This record gives sequence, structure tokens and C-alpha cells, in this order.
Amino acid sequence: MAFNNNLIFETKKKLKTSGAISLIFIMLISSFYLYLNNQLVNDQKIFAEYSLKVKTQIFLINDILILSEKVESEPSRVVLKKELLKEIFIYKNEVEKFQQWLLSEKNQNYEKLYLILRDKKVAQKTEKYLNLAKSIARSDKLSKQEINVNIRSIAKAASSGLGEILEDVTFNIENKRIESLKELEILSWINVLVILILFIVVWIYIYKSLFSIILSQDEKITDFVVKVESASKSKTNFLANISHEIRTPMTVIIGYIDLLKNDDLKRHEKEEAISLVSDNAHHLLSLINEILDISKIESNKVHYNFKDIELSEIFTSTYGLLKVKAEEKKIDFSFKNINHLPEHIYTDEKRLKQIIFNLVGNALKFTDEGFVKVESEYKEASDTLVVYVKDSGIGITAEQSKRLFRPFEQGNEKVNRVYGGTGLGLAISQSLARGLGGDLKILQTQVGKGTTFVLTIDAGTSETTRIIDTPCENYTSEVVDHNDVDLTGKKILIVDDAKENSRLFNAYLSSTGAAISLAHGGKDAVKQYQDTTFDLVLLDLQMPDIDGYQALVLMKKHNNKIPILALTAHAMDEERIKTKEAGFVGHLTKPITAEDLILGVFHHLKK
Ligand code: ADP
Repeated sequence: MAFNNNLIFETKKKLKTSGAISLIFIMLISSFYLYLNNQLVNDQKIFAEYSLKVKTQIFLINDILILSEKVESEPSRVVLKKELLKEIFIYKNEVEKFQQWLLSEKNQNYEKLYLILRDKKVAQKTEKYLNLAKSIARSDKLSKQEINVNIRSIAKAASSGLGEILEDVTFNIENKRIESLKELEILSWINVLVILILFIVVWIYIYKSLFSIILSQDEKITDFVVKVESASKSKTNFLANISHEIRTPMTVIIGYIDLLKNDDLKRHEKEEAISLVSDNAHHLLSLINEILDISKIESNKVHYNFKDIELSEIFTSTYGLLKVKAEEKKIDFSFKNINHLPEHIYTDEKRLKQIIFNLVGNALKFTDEGFVKVESEYKEASDTLVVYVKDSGIGITAEQSKRLFRPFEQGNEKVNRVYGGTGLGLAISQSLARGLGGDLKILQTQVGKGTTFVLTIDAGTSETTRIIDTPCENYTSEVVDHNDVDLTGKKILIVDDAKENSRLFNAYLSSTGAAISLAHGGKDAVKQYQDTTFDLVLLDLQMPDIDGYQALVLMKKHNNKIPILALTAHAMDEERIKTKEAGFVGHLTKPITAEDLILGVFHHLKK
């Protein structure tokens, strides 16, 4: 869920760089734009100046023409002639100033105009025009006819020659102005385009990736919040359930123990009370184990103990443990192999048993009549063991099946009320199945008709293992009944600092005929071990004087042929590994039932 800080840093860097580049770009374009604009304004000013000058010249030409015509009608009028000469002088000055202006530095652009004026011989034409005007002004010696001809020439030169040329030049300037305006317009568009491109570039290269990451992070966060909310809701429900699940057996245990204090109780009433206390205590224990398992799964601390195991033993023991329940409910209960299975597979025996036990236990729990069938097959190509657990029970609705593998979820509240349970079994089993290299799924289910779960695990079959030829139809249990175990003649040492524990274990094992000795501390145990040759030792780990590990070392030093089993309240896998590494031959956990203790001891004495 960690946000990509690197990306943010990179984006900031890119943003700064692109910001600087964009700024430079925009400034460059804007400066160029400003420069062109400035030029245009300058051009406009010059054009205005030029127009003024040309207009002045045209007015002067006009004045000279009018005055010349007046001189023609009144040739003797001295004042008119003087006026004409004055106008000619002004006009001449204007023309000179105009030419200088055209050539001045600031009007370099107008050199072209100057050239036009030169090409069209404006200077000569103006000179000729002025000379004609001057001759009219000094017309004393000229005949009336000569003056007439001169005036006509002046009029002609004024209207066609000079006027046209000046108009031509004006037209040229106007064209140039329009061209500049167009350039300016194009430049504005380029400016807009560049800014747009910059935006697109910034978006694609900088923001797009950031934006999509923000979106996906946002989705993840929303998902996460929803999950956390639903997990917290499930956990609240779970706590309510758990509290109910714990209180129910506790009520029975406390109530019946109180009842047992009553001396007037008849024998069968006592037996019934004891059996109820025992059942409920076992139920509590399995509840605690499930809670421990799920907390290990949630904190990723499940340890798998892979080794070569005998496959038939798994099915045999599950069948043996659950057949009583099937018999009670009169359910047809069978195990069979679909094809030939490997004799040994490489997996965690305890975990595989736990999964199958949970699935078959559920199948029996949710089936009131019909069958529960466990069918196994081996897929050689993928080296997978597949176990189908089929029942003809209550079935699961589509809506329920979506939630079943989530921890703390049950089919529905009604199922929970009727059948009890914590809703942890399937979640634990699925995680464990995945831990064993496979999976657990519902293959098919129909409400009222039944359900089939399919479990796959990686078989890890070694090349040397046999593939069993004869598929066994039914695993008729070879499980030893603990009531039948006879350990007469065997000497067993029970070491536990808690006296009530050792008394209880003594009572359990004495029923087998074994001779039991008790030690209440490590030192006492070592001493007894050195004095007597026992057949087996049950050794507690946590003791006040010397602990189980130290006692083991001392005992083994004296005689290392006797099986020594750890009998401890530490149920974690880490502790099991530790005891195995220390040299204990087995690891039994407290609380322990008479059955498990007797069979555990029997199993190790047989070896
Ligand atoms: P629980 O301890 O409550 O049984 P599980 O995780 O083992 O928890 O099962 C969860 C739920 O799945 C059960 O409450 C039940 O509704 C449903 N379920 C499991 N197995 C079966 C089955 N074989 N048939 C019908 N429903 C089942």
C-alpha cells in the first residue's frame, strides 16, 4: 500500500524542468511577438508620417496648379507670382525633406520606396514640374500662349506623373502593413499552438502516469477501507460468536461440576455429567486450537513440517476418528481411491490430516441422512493428490459460498444457531491447502442435495515410492482403541511440577497396567532416571529447578536409548521443532485426553 514516493519525486523534478523550459519557450515567443508588434506600431507611425508628408506635397502641387492658372488669367499680378514662387519654394523644401526622410536610418525599410521614387524618376519629374511652375511665376517674358502650354504641362504632370507615383508608393506601404498584420496573426496562432503543445507534453509525460497511479491508489485505498470495514464487522461478529461458543460449553462444564459435588447423585447421573463435562471441555480445546491457527495464518507464521508420510495412514486415522459420528447419524460413510495412489507423499502430515478432518467433519455435521464419501485420486502429470469430499447434506447457497473461505464467516446465522461452529474451519483449511502447494474449493453444491469440496495438494512424490496397485475400497479402521491398550510390565516416568497434572496422567496411564513413577521437578526426574531403568519418560518442559531441556541432556548422558517425550502446554510449531532438535522422540501437548496420551505412549513403545 506504500505510495510511490519515487514517482512523486520524479514528477516534481520533471515538473520543475518542464516548467522552466515552458517559461523560456513562452518568453521567447512572446518577445518575438512583442518585437513584431513593436515593428508594426513603428510602421504605423511611419505610415502616418509618410501619409502626412505625401498629402502635404499633393496639397502643395494642387496649390501651385491653382496659382499657375490664376497667373494665366492675370499675368500681371505681382502678388500672385510672389505667392506662387513662395509655394514653389515650400514644395521644393518638402520634396527634399521627404527624400532625406526616406533615406534616414529609421526608414531603412523604406529604401524600397526610395528606389521606386528613383526608378520612376520622381526627382527629375519634380524638377521639371518646378521649373515649369517657376517659368510661370517669372512669366513676364513669356507669351500668353507659352504660359498656357506650361500650365497644361503642369496640370498633366501633377495629375498623372507625381500624383500617380505617390499613390503607387502609398499603395506599397499599405500592402506592407497588411502583410505585417497577417504575420502577427499567424504568430498569435503559433503562440496559442505552442502553449497547447506544452500542455499536452506536460500532461502525457508528467501528469498522466501520476494521475493513473493516483487513480489506482485511490481504488486500492477504497478497496482496503471496504475490506477493513468488513473485516472489522466480521471480527465483531466473530467475537460475539466466540463469546457465545465459549460460554455455552463453559456453562455446561461449570454447571455439571457443581452438580457432581452433590453426593446424592446416582451413578448413571454422575456418568452422564462427567461425559458432558468431557465433551464440552474437548469442544473448548478445539476452539482454542482453531483461534490459534487462524492467528498464525493471519500473521503468516504457519510452519510446515514436510516429510515423507504414509498416505493410507491419513485416511485410516480420519476414518477411524469420525466413523463413530457417522454411525450415530446412520450415514453411509466411505473412503475410496479413484485410481492408484502413491504409497508415500511428501507433505505435512499434521496439516493434511487437519484439512481432511475438517472437511469430513463438516460433511458429517451438515448431513442428516444419506452419505459422506471421500474419494482420492493421484494426477501423475502434475504430481498432485486430489481428494473429493462429497455429502448429501444441506448444501450451500451461491451467496453463502462466496464468503465461506473468509475467516470468521459462516454460511448464515441460522446455520450457526443450529449447528454451532466458529466459521474458521474452511478459512484455515484453504490457507493450509495453499501452504501445501494446492487449494481448496467447492466443486459443486445444491441446497438440500449436498456439496462436494475438492482438495488438491502437491504430492511431492519421490521416484522411489511405490504406486499402490490395489485401490482400497473402504479403509476399515485399524485404529487401536485406547481402552484395549495393554502396557503391563512397562515402567513409565511422568515428570511434571504441577501435581494435579501428574496425578491425572498417572490415572490415565495406570488403566493400561503400566507401572508409573512420578517426579515433580527436573532434578528429581534425573535422579529417578539414573536409579531405575524406565521404558519411557514423559517430560514437562517448564519447571522451576532445571527445565525439561536441561533434564533431557543429563538423562541422555546417562542412558540415551530410552524414549523421552515432551509433554508440554506449548503447542506452537516452533516449540515442536525445538524439542525435536533437542532429542525428544515425540511432542505431546497439554491439555491431553486419556486417549491421546495412551495412544501416544503406546505408539512410541511399539517402535
Ligand atoms: P464452522 O466451524 O462454523 O463449521 P467452517 O469454516 O468449517 O466453520 O464452515 C463455514 C460454514 O460453511 C459453515 O457454517 C456452513 O454453513 C458451511 N459448510 C461447510 N461445509 C459444509 C457442508 N459440507 N455442507 C453444507 N455447508 C457447509
